[in-house]
Amino acid sequence: MSSEPGFLTTRLDEAIGWARKFSIFQYPFVTACCGMEYMATACSHYDVDRFGAGLPRFSPRQADVLFVVGTISHKMAPVLKRIYDQMAEPKWVVSFGVCTCTGGFYDNYATVMGIDTIMPVDVYIPGCPPRPEYVLDGLLKLQAKIQAQHSSGERPVPEQRPVLSERQRVEGPEVVA
Ligand code: SF4
Repeated sequence: MSSEPGFLTTRLDEAIGWARKFSIFQYPFVTACCGMEYMATACSHYDVDRFGAGLPRFSPRQADVLFVVGTISHKMAPVLKRIYDQMAEPKWVVSFGVCTCTGGFYDNYATVMGIDTIMPVDVYIPGCPPRPEYVLDGLLKLQAKIQAQHSSGERPVPEQRPVLSERQRVEGPEVVA
């Protein structure tokens, strides 16, 4: 008997993936200055509603994408982890801004050096802060991942954190090193 998925199963996976990627309910965990750029992306000029991601939810039980925006301190880390744990599967994590991705220019005992040390990250959006166009690019990458995920809820392989030069860390990854 063939182990290949059947026609109906693959069509169902595609339909579920399509519905999921255009009905993103994000939980914004905003701690610092990147929040301004996050809000700019949600406003009418960039309009994340076009991608079906315009409705934030402030309860982890109603959200499926955790947007971690801004510097995370070790004191805040257990709170963030609890919110992640309370979200139901399938769930995804977006790391927004270089402070969240790697700790950024902070090099001290108080700052978490990248949230991938406490939870899996699906999409990294580095930059200080990332421009709204870059945020939209990250959102499209997340949608592609959601579409490719099986309806069984099997988790995609987490992203590797970006390796950036010092200048790229501050001015954004599009800067040539
Ligand atoms: S990446 Fe830059 S803009 Fe974003 S929280 Fe850190 S210091 Fe602020």
